[in-house]
Amino acid sequence: MRWSSYYLFTTREVPADAEVASHRLMVRSGMIRKLAAGIYTYLPLALRSFGKLTDIVRRELAKADCIELSMPAIQPAQLWQESGRWSQYGKELLRIEDRHGREFCFGPTHEEVITDLVRNDVRSYRQLPLNLFQIQTKFRDEIRPRFGLMRGREFIMKDAYSFHATEESLDQSYKAMAAAYNRIFKACGLDFVSVEADSGTIGGSSSHEYMVVAATGESVVVRSSDGSYAANVEKAVTGPLPLPAAGEEETSREVVTPAMTAVSDVAAFLEVEEAQVVKTLIYDADETLVAVAIRGDREVNDVKLKNFLDVEDLVLASEERVREATGSPVGFAGPVGLAEGVRLLADESVRGLKNFVCGANRGDTHLVGVNWGREAEPSEWVDVRLARGGDPAPGGQGELEEFRGIEVGHIFKLGTKYSEAMSCNFLDEEGKSHPMAMGCYGLGIGRTIAAAIEQNYDDDGIIWPLPLAPFQVLLIALNTNDEEVVGQADALYNTLREKGVEVLFDDRNQRPGVKFKDADLIGLPVRMVVGARSLKEGQVEISLRRDRERQMVAVGDAVERILHLLEAS
Ligand code: ATP
Ligand code: MG
Repeated sequence: MRWSSYYLFTTREVPADAEVASHRLMVRSGMIRKLAAGIYTYLPLALRSFGKLTDIVRRELAKADCIELSMPAIQPAQLWQESGRWSQYGKELLRIEDRHGREFCFGPTHEEVITDLVRNDVRSYRQLPLNLFQIQTKFRDEIRPRFGLMRGREFIMKDAYSFHATEESLDQSYKAMAAAYNRIFKACGLDFVSVEADSGTIGGSSSHEYMVVAATGESVVVRSSDGSYAANVEKAVTGPLPLPAAGEEETSREVVTPAMTAVSDVAAFLEVEEAQVVKTLIYDADETLVAVAIRGDREVNDVKLKNFLDVEDLVLASEERVREATGSPVGFAGPVGLAEGVRLLADESVRGLKNFVCGANRGDTHLVGVNWGREAEPSEWVDVRLARGGDPAPGGQGELEEFRGIEVGHIFKLGTKYSEAMSCNFLDEEGKSHPMAMGCYGLGIGRTIAAAIEQNYDDDGIIWPLPLAPFQVLLIALNTNDEEVVGQADALYNTLREKGVEVLFDDRNQRPGVKFKDADLIGLPVRMVVGARSLKEGQVEISLRRDRERQMVAVGDAVERILHLLEAS
């Protein structure tokens, strides 16, 4: 491709809302342009990278016997009413009406459509299993679209859905898809981990997320030092926390703690560790009051709590409701003497504590020397604690390390949630009807490309990993007024293309400074420069974007050298 006639316009303008490198760099390098919040035009350079990724995806999914089709973006409301999600999905679902007043939505995902398809075509266990995928545009009216393609409203996803006669068959496909995802992200040259993920309240089903390791990631992940356990913090469990030292059992007593609502203040005032304080949080869970006791230096994991309680709506209780539960203002709640009917859950982190400190359910007052089984007893012991780096890994596998990641893929065992709701059934060998077991497997195309940039850039621009680079080589003709340079560069361009190399030829009539800046910005892996001075010596300059070390190579050897570099990278 000749840059002079290509649609590639770099810019120095950085959008004011661009908080992360990939967003800034994709705009600056002429890959994307914003049309509206979270809605982007994908320019040719971006589309070429998408193509690289989707080629890898198609290749690897084929190995997992996953078959491509393509479903409509616009979906009738009636299918969503059948699954029950029309009322559950909330505002992320873009609802639209046609001229007849019939309701539709712009698909944020395709479980309903694919389930409807398969229930009409597939009848018998003999036709199962089936695994189907598409690469297609989704719309989710995200509350906070941001980070460019990372969290858009309109975005491209690869989504796959599998259908099975048995749980074992679902297991097999799930494993095959997990392996395919590992191969895909490896082939992209990304530093990633697959982690256990929250699968909501659907039950013990498996779910794994694929996380590209990046400081700007929106997800937090923990991994054991030996690598055998990795999970999203939403889901992560830990081994038992070490207990603070405890002496003889004391008798409990009240102490006045004026205006001390924060654990840190109370601990400092009473000269105890924060781990010796039991913090009690009052929640409104589908309008019932729930108290959660947890160690003072720890946070509640709302996802775990919500799953445990199996409720739709979980919020911290209002001041008024806290008073209802505790008879005191906010900040002095404790497990001793809560109002009748308040369900008291205690996190495992406070199970072995002796002589602990807690709110007295009276304003400006705490209790000290409190012991479980004596002053207080929870109705249930639970694990609702947020794991964090430094915690013991579960199963005694060392320590947990914490880092941030970008969720690029998510695979999920759905079980019969959709097939039951939508009567997607098959007949077994005896002619008996059963709902099919299902799996679903998502992978964000734009988000993965953005994540690749997030992991590969420097102050000057993108440093493309070769497998996802829009072109492999940037060929720069430095002095476009010099006939010799232009002639030689032209010849090299043609030879490279004949050899099947993807080359972008910067033949623009621009100053060398501009060309070099743009070269760094768009970040193609290999660069070849044809300039008047070196050409006099019969040489061209070749370098890699990653280390920018220049090698002078005889013109006659240049193409061979490039082919060699591409092979070695
Ligand atoms: P998130 O928690 O980031 O919102 P999700 O759990 O809603 O993601 P899924 O429904 O599992 O995502 O979608 C599958 C994949 O689609 C994700 O792993 C991600 O790569 C991509 N994806 C989801 N939402 C967006 C978005 N708003 N913009 C770009 N890609 C997205
Ligand atoms: Mg989402």
